[in-house]
Amino acid sequence: MVSDTNKSLQIIMGAPGVKGKKVTALPQDGLTDLIHSVVSENQNFKEPFYVLDLGVVTSLMEKWTRSLPTVRPFYAVKCNPDPAFLGAMAALGSGFDCASLAEIEAILSLGVSPDRVVSANPCKAESHIKYAAAVGVNLTTFDSKDEIEKIRKYHPKCELLIRIKAPDESGSKSTLGSKYGALPEEVAPLLQAARCAKLTVSGVSFHVGSATTNFGAYRAAIAAAKTIFEAASRLGLPKMHVLNIGGGFTAGPHFDDASKVVKSALRQYFINEPGLTVISEPGRFFAESAFTLATNIIGKRMRGELREYWINDGIYGSMNCILTNHATVNAPFACILYGGNPACRGMRTYCSTVFGPTCDALDTVLTGHQLPELQVSDWLVFPNMGAYTAAAGSNFNGFNTAAITTHLAYSGADADAIGEEYLRHFKPRVAKP
Ligand code: PLP
Repeated sequence: MVSDTNKSLQIIMGAPGVKGKKVTALPQDGLTDLIHSVVSENQNFKEPFYVLDLGVVTSLMEKWTRSLPTVRPFYAVKCNPDPAFLGAMAALGSGFDCASLAEIEAILSLGVSPDRVVSANPCKAESHIKYAAAVGVNLTTFDSKDEIEKIRKYHPKCELLIRIKAPDESGSKSTLGSKYGALPEEVAPLLQAARCAKLTVSGVSFHVGSATTNFGAYRAAIAAAKTIFEAASRLGLPKMHVLNIGGGFTAGPHFDDASKVVKSALRQYFINEPGLTVISEPGRFFAESAFTLATNIIGKRMRGELREYWINDGIYGSMNCILTNHATVNAPFACILYGGNPACRGMRTYCSTVFGPTCDALDTVLTGHQLPELQVSDWLVFPNMGAYTAAAGSNFNGFNTAAITTHLAYSGADADAIGEEYLRHFKPRVAKP
């Protein structure tokens, strides 16, 4: 009998972006060994690189399906558009939230059908709307009359979700309500404007803000969505049948609490909507913990007891999330490779600062961080680096974030079985860093 893990593995190994690539089977806690073998395979290789653990992606999809079986995920591509990651999500059955023409193009090029895409940017350029019309992406969000007018002109077959401002965004790491979402008093005029334009509003969408710890925000937003379903009925519009609960989820222990609130609010407010389709746009939930970033120490300065290090990725690259997402990054003890060797060099620690590579002082990744004595060429490894990292990095000072390579790994099961399964199905090609 094929175990569930091996079934997922077979599916994922055939995914576009993954197929034909070298995927390393990881025993439990094998990430450090993998990073060690990557850096020791080629001693001259000092560039930063990511490791994407496809086993984490598989188990997160299992977790989602177990916890929210009636809510279909449409992964938010903006969070991390790594091709292998997108391929794995496609293979696992996810839909996709695309914010631009290029994101739609990337998803359709994986062989995903257009009905698995929601064009979820409430304000789109005309050319992007025309492209969605041409390729058959027929579901989008809006929150203004001008958007209705553009959609009427360029994509009249498109169904609409009215994006509302979530009533409560407190407790989230970054809020979206100052930019997007119709206010309560704007909803009826927008629904009427859509009717005048002969467009169908199929449902409601919202986003409670990223990485929220205030799960009551989902209940409040689901309640607000229900009032809009009712308002649409009162206005005599076709019955709404889609509810898009947006993103905001994290993959840690909070997910259980968040999903309980979502399920209970759906029961409370939408129990009498038998034809309802509920979708969600998780980004961080799937991407964050699946990616680990390895950086090389390229410089060092000692000032008394203080140790200062320069690494070859930073605030203008993967760590832009510190500025744009109020994120914190961490390089735990276990994630230091001395010259590529995981052996410990002594336990005394020093108060340390870690800078990124650009000439801007803002480019500071860690301050007041306790680290053992490190040397130039050692490696500092940052776990949980998949959400809003490389996706929004720049080329500032000539440090090209897009050029950072990704290695593929698969953890969480019997490593030998995975290796055999892989060899049976695919001819491995060694991907050089
Ligand atoms: N949907 C929309 C419309 C968004 O703007 C975002 C993030 O900005 C997401 C989904 C993904 O959010 P998260 O990563 O918090 O799940």
